[in-house]
Amino acid sequence: MQTFKTKLAAINEVAEKTMEFVFEKPEHIEYKAGQHVNFKLPELYYEDKKGPRRTFTLVSSPRESSLKIATRLTGSGFKRTLLEMPVKTELEFIGPMGELVLNMQYPAVFIAGGIGITPFKSMLTDIENINFNNKIMLLYTNKSIKRSVYFNYFTEYKNKKFTFIPIFTAEKSWTGEQRRIDTNLIKEYIENVKQSIIYLCGSTQMVRQLTEELIKENINQDQIRSESFFGY
Ligand SMILES: Cc1cc2nc3c(=O)[nH]c(=O)nc-3n(C[C@H](O)[C@H](O)[C@H](O)COP(=O)(O)OP(=O)(O)OC[C@H]3O[C@@H](n4cnc5c(N)ncnc54)[C@H](O)[C@@H]3O)c2cc1C
Repeated sequence: MQTFKTKLAAINEVAEKTMEFVFEKPEHIEYKAGQHVNFKLPELYYEDKKGPRRTFTLVSSPRESSLKIATRLTGSGFKRTLLEMPVKTELEFIGPMGELVLNMQYPAVFIAGGIGITPFKSMLTDIENINFNNKIMLLYTNKSIKRSVYFNYFTEYKNKKFTFIPIFTAEKSWTGEQRRIDTNLIKEYIENVKQSIIYLCGSTQMVRQLTEELIKENINQDQIRSESFFGY
């Protein structure tokens, strides 16, 4: 693992209380779609018991000319500092690291809760440039459309092999899927669950619960790839 220096280049709002931070891409960095890095802020403007470091998935894809992360604003000292940091502030990170990367050989079922969408946005952007010949399904659950990060990107994503199932659990006007994700819902949408790799990303509770349910359904542990984001 290496240490890199980078500079903040831009901040964009990508959903309600959810920001995308764009960083200059260091020369010679190589990473796989779905991997993460650990950022260290040069100073904290606000107190933070956890200190100046946090891990974030690179939501950008490896071919993009900048590095991007996306995160919900929670009020932590780390995130308040990140939001107020002037453009061009230099910071460092270690990485890239992580095993939540696409297996080219099998159909992919991406299951994301909230900000857990970040590795899948990176992978789907990357798939536009690589020869992935299997089906891809994205089940993406949020409370509401305005909380749904990169919703338009997935709605407009053009790939015959891709199916997008947005799930809104508290969106009154939504006529599509509203149920909580469980194995029954997964089986309804995916005929060949046992021949697919299931990638899970979201809160610790969501990932733990779905993993347990999938294993009870005799889905092999090595068909399940997951990452949990704690702190939400
Ligand atoms: C492999 C991996 C990849 C990850 N990728 C991402 C990613 O792509 N995007 C992402 O957003 N996160 C990601 N995370 C999680 C990330 O590292 C943080 O844990 C998460 O974003 C919460 O950080 P935080 O600073 O908001 O809250 P923490 O400091 O962890 O605090 C937890 C909660 O306490 C509350 N809190 C803390 N301090 C205050 C305060 N001063 N005032 C009020 N409330 C407070 C907040 O509500 C916060 O939600 C990833 C984690 C891992 C391990």
